[in-house]
Amino acid sequence: MTRVFNFSAGPAALPEPVLRQAADEMLDWRGSGVSVMEMSHRGKEFMSIHAQAQALLRELLAIPPNYKTLFMQGGAIAENAIVPMNMLRGKASADYIDTGEWSRRSIEEAARYGRVNVAATSKDSGYTRLPARETWQLDPEAAYVHICSNETIGGVQYHFTPEVGDVPLVADMSSEILSRPVDVAKYGLIYGGAQKNIGPAGLTIVIVREDLTGHALPCTPSAFDYAVVAAHDSMFNTPPTYAIYIAGLVFQWLKDQGGLAAMAQRNEAKARLLYDFLDASSFFSSRVERSCRSMMNVPFHLKDPSLDEAFLKGAQARGLVQLKGHRIVGGMRASIYNAMPLEGVQALVDWMQEFEAQHG
Ligand SMILES: *Cc1c(COP(=O)(O)O)cnc(C)c1O
Repeated sequence: MTRVFNFSAGPAALPEPVLRQAADEMLDWRGSGVSVMEMSHRGKEFMSIHAQAQALLRELLAIPPNYKTLFMQGGAIAENAIVPMNMLRGKASADYIDTGEWSRRSIEEAARYGRVNVAATSKDSGYTRLPARETWQLDPEAAYVHICSNETIGGVQYHFTPEVGDVPLVADMSSEILSRPVDVAKYGLIYGGAQKNIGPAGLTIVIVREDLTGHALPCTPSAFDYAVVAAHDSMFNTPPTYAIYIAGLVFQWLKDQGGLAAMAQRNEAKARLLYDFLDASSFFSSRVERSCRSMMNVPFHLKDPSLDEAFLKGAQARGLVQLKGHRIVGGMRASIYNAMPLEGVQALVDWMQEFEAQHG
């Protein structure tokens, strides 16, 4: 068996010990005689898996008691609609900060349910930075302010929590959730699909301040109404049971690694290794402004794009896979989520150095 270093943006690499444990428990989960996939979601075995995953998530993020953690489905793209349905709360409009492809998708979807005010955009920079906080035209009457805390495609990340007064801050954290500690109390709502930095596709995490629930638009499907989902402890419909089980194993793994502060240190070391190399090179480059470079998704370019294919082919031969950049940005992209070890980034930098020596 050969495991490669998988730099996919998502679905992405999972920690190997988690996959091994899941393999060990595949046919018979802890003496139950069945696989987790075959369990009733209302049976005591799965209820314990669910409760444990919930408790670990709350512990890792130190989620305050007045926040609900919901295990939903539909991914962040569905949540882009579910958020306005639940969060407009009778208000006329919501503020959105446009920082790239994913916030643009959130804006487009929200506009189907209410009036969207794009309070700031970094489009003019080709989405290589965040719009300076002083330039945001926030509406104090807005239902909420929406940000994408890490733009997976552009590789732009907030390294601060924007102050937005009393208006609830909503963040799509799909591609960075659990990569670093977050002060949850500064947010009204945090959401993210699991398949970037948590577990298998199919599970969406929602963390929402309790007082913001219970005001969904009448057209909201019951399964997408935060108050209904919360009242049923995320079991209003059959939850994605296997995805929740794997997420629970990842949460335990994160705790065993020392928690989110320790993960953040490791993620910073990984990102520094790669960005330092890019900045020192005259052959490879990063186009993202230093102050907002993503620790999770690192797009980079060769000076001569006609060499991209040769670079990617050589990478593949060395077990460094899924490095092709998103078509919108071009070039390459290395996604270096929690499960990517430092050795993987080192192997990538070694290959970049070798390639530069050959072609530079
Ligand atoms: C991947 C991603 C999405 C889309 O997630 P789906 O699970 O496909 O719905 C949305 N936002 C961000 C920031 C992402 O990284």
